[in-house]
This record gives sequence, C-alpha cells and structure tokens, in this order.
Amino acid sequence: MRPPSFANLISTIPWILILGAIGLFSWFSSAAGQATLDAIRPSAVWMGRKVGLTTGPVAWTPNVREPPPAALQTFWDLEVPLHAPYRISSGYGWRVHPVYGSRKFHNGIDMAVPVGTLIYAPQSGKVTKVAENRRSGKFMTVDHGQGVQTTYCHLDVTEVPRGEHVAHGQIIARSGNTGASTGPHLHWIIKVDGQSIDPAVLLEAIAQGESAD
Ligand SMILES: [Zn+2]
Repeated sequence: MRPPSFANLISTIPWILILGAIGLFSWFSSAAGQATLDAIRPSAVWMGRKVGLTTGPVAWTPNVREPPPAALQTFWDLEVPLHAPYRISSGYGWRVHPVYGSRKFHNGIDMAVPVGTLIYAPQSGKVTKVAENRRSGKFMTVDHGQGVQTTYCHLDVTEVPRGEHVAHGQIIARSGNTGASTGPHLHWIIKVDGQSIDPAVLLEAIAQGESAD
C-alpha cells in the first residue's frame, strides 16, 4: 500500500468542510434548543420558502435572507382546535377535488370527525367572519392578530357571532358536513399575512413538543 498522494489529500478537503458544516449546524440547532421540522417535512412551504418550526416560541425560516416576520413568532402558540381524536382525510396542497373533480389547491387540511365535534379557539382572537356558501358550507374566520388568521369550514353550528372576541380554548363552533363535502370533517385553514400554510406542520410540531416533554 502506498501513502495517499497529495491530489488525494486535496480532494478530501471539501468533504471535511461539508461534514464539518453539517456537524456545526446540528450542534448549533440542538445547542439553541431548536428542533427544526424542516428535515421531516421539506415540502412544508410558506410563501414559497421552507418553514422551520422550533419547540420554543419563535419560528424561523432556514436559509434566511431576511428574518421571519413577526406573525410567525406567534405561530407556535396555536393549539389544535379539536380535542377529540381526528384523522387527516386530506392534506394541504394540489389535489383533484373530491366533489368538483378538477385540480384545485387545497388550502388547508381536512380533519375527519363526527358531526357536532366541538371546535376550540386555538389562540385568543376576534371572530371576523361568519358566513355560509355552497362550497365551504357554514364557515368562520378568527383573527389572532399579528397577521395570523384561522378559518373553519363545513360547520354544523357556529357558537360565536362576528365581531366578538374569543379566549384561548373557548368553544367557537361544532363541526359538520355542510357545503361541498363528501363526509363529516373540519376543513382547517391557517393564514399568515394572507398566505395559507400547511397546518400539518403545526400538528407535527405540537406532537414533537409534547413527546419531548
Ligand atoms: Zn378541505
């Protein structure tokens, strides 16, 4: 066996640098107590960029060119609006619509639960819309401040009128099967600065945070 040539040594240097960078990054992430979900769900996008959620009160975007907006920093405070068991029957993103049969962007997640399941305000806020149409059925929107809004569709009953403030954890509605729906479920939308994000990212963050406790 002959000793490694100079050229071989040179070619290993980039790998050493790359591995070093990865090591430093993971050390920094854990040292800061931040478990990013980016590696778990790289498809989670917010306004065209990846969203990273931390177990702390601040959410951040990896590969940052600008700091995360103030709104994202309240994101983690949102809780799951259902306390009963649910099944995600349809995820966020492009899909063929089950009723219309055409390709549409699904701007929230479908959480399958029996009609009448209680829905809780995931954070305090103000009810800014209570309405009904053929597509969404009965629906309501809660503005949580700092650019964060949540919307609940296909409801059976809304429990809070428009304009009223709701407390964190207050019952705001009962799920249903109204509008263009093929079965009882809650269609849950989260918008940050007017742009929908994937609520499943939040659900995973909560599940991870709870299992880490
Ligand atoms: Zn839906």
